[in-house]
Amino acid sequence: MLGANDGGEIAGERIHAPGFTCKTSPAQGKIALPNSGRTMQFDLIIVGGGLAGLSLACALRDTPLRIALVEQRPPRAAEGWDARVYAISPANADFLTQIGAWKHMDQERIATINAMEVYGDAGARLDFSAYQTGVSALGFILESSLMACELWENVKRQGNLTLFLPGTPVRVDLRDDAALLGLDDGRTLSARLLVAADGRDSWLRRAIGLDAFDTHYNEKGVVANFECERPHRGIAHQWFRDDGVLAWLPLPGKRISMVWSAPNELADELCALPADEFCRRVAAAGGNRLGDFSLLTPAAAFPLRLMRVPKVVAPRIALIGDAAHGIHPLSGHGINLGYQDAKALAGILAACQPWQDIGHLAVLERYQRARKEEVLLLQTATDALRRLFRNDLPGLKPLRNLGMNLTNGLPLLKNVLARYALGTL
Ligand SMILES: Cc1cc2nc3c(=O)[nH]c(=O)nc-3n(C[C@H](O)[C@H](O)[C@H](O)COP(=O)(O)OP(=O)(O)OC[C@H]3O[C@@H](n4cnc5c(N)ncnc54)[C@H](O)[C@@H]3O)c2cc1C
Repeated sequence: MLGANDGGEIAGERIHAPGFTCKTSPAQGKIALPNSGRTMQFDLIIVGGGLAGLSLACALRDTPLRIALVEQRPPRAAEGWDARVYAISPANADFLTQIGAWKHMDQERIATINAMEVYGDAGARLDFSAYQTGVSALGFILESSLMACELWENVKRQGNLTLFLPGTPVRVDLRDDAALLGLDDGRTLSARLLVAADGRDSWLRRAIGLDAFDTHYNEKGVVANFECERPHRGIAHQWFRDDGVLAWLPLPGKRISMVWSAPNELADELCALPADEFCRRVAAAGGNRLGDFSLLTPAAAFPLRLMRVPKVVAPRIALIGDAAHGIHPLSGHGINLGYQDAKALAGILAACQPWQDIGHLAVLERYQRARKEEVLLLQTATDALRRLFRNDLPGLKPLRNLGMNLTNGLPLLKNVLARYALGTL
């Protein structure tokens, strides 16, 4: 086998890729040059440079592992505000700090969640505040592209990483001692471990035949950003409505980001509305508590599904992020789970001794055990919550609202719930 540098990469190049609009800086890491026809050897290959794959690569920066990152397209900085906005838990803000990404992000674009108000479909209310929970913030609201561009900048400078961009895998061959990955340009990469971070329709997961079980919700998550008339004071709102779950997340200034998980027909209807009517509809759905809205980003919709993957590891393979699980966005846990996958896997790989095989099933099963409980618990709880509020069984509506009100009157239980969601329990 040849060393990574024998495959024809150079150090210190800039990335030149069509449509690449993130701020650029000289790459200390390596960018693979065109095919030299030889197999290039690494310790670890990450397929997919979304938030999960990039954060794993960054978390392994100070290890001796030689990493290949294969990605089809680089992230793009949003023009104006990104419609994809995520609630990031304090635990994951800490993770992003540890891997060096948080401090470089434009802090003016990050909003702090000071409190959260959740409403049932018959007048019930449950509220949490950072003050009552004894923390400085319940979470942070960040644009997806802000995080992706910062993580991308970091991996470009990473000395132990070679970037394959645009890279599309077409063949995978799992052997006793190595995994081989063939790219569409004829290059072959070899490593002891292949990580699938290529999203919910993961090519790698399907190519190696790991099962994934989907439950389609027949719903879409409609997302859009708004400028609002009144200040939100850092309060996130969520309504369990007859027509889905509506969330307003605070953005910096008098702006909010909306996720409305709505049945397909309603989602399509919302997306087709003229801007001013769409604004009126969304403002009214939240009782006009933030006054009138004006649209910052047009409505976009994403199909929602629950995806369970019973085995997230196999010899020489580990799945992370959306390749490993899908969850309804009502609990805002998608990428929060993905970051925790990356953190757990990085911790296990970094702790391996040089003589240990990082692609051995016994090593990878430690990662699977470490993540199983949290993923299952959050998927089950989120799915159950959604079912509870989408169920028309007579008598259930007052009961679920009573449950919410009772929980609201129990500070200890509320504190436990809040701390679990924050990742600080
Ligand atoms: C409406 C909506 C709202 C959401 N809100 C939240 C929220 O508030 N909080 C939260 O935590 N999560 C939220 N999520 C979930 C979140 O979007 C995902 O969990 C997250 O983007 C997953 O990141 P990932 O890196 O695992 O996958 P992806 O973001 O899908 O990244 C996969 C990467 O792999 C690359 N790729 C794919 N196939 C290949 C291939 N064959 N070869 C090479 N590269 C490949 C892609 O180009 C991409 O860069 C929301 C989702 C939706 C739909």
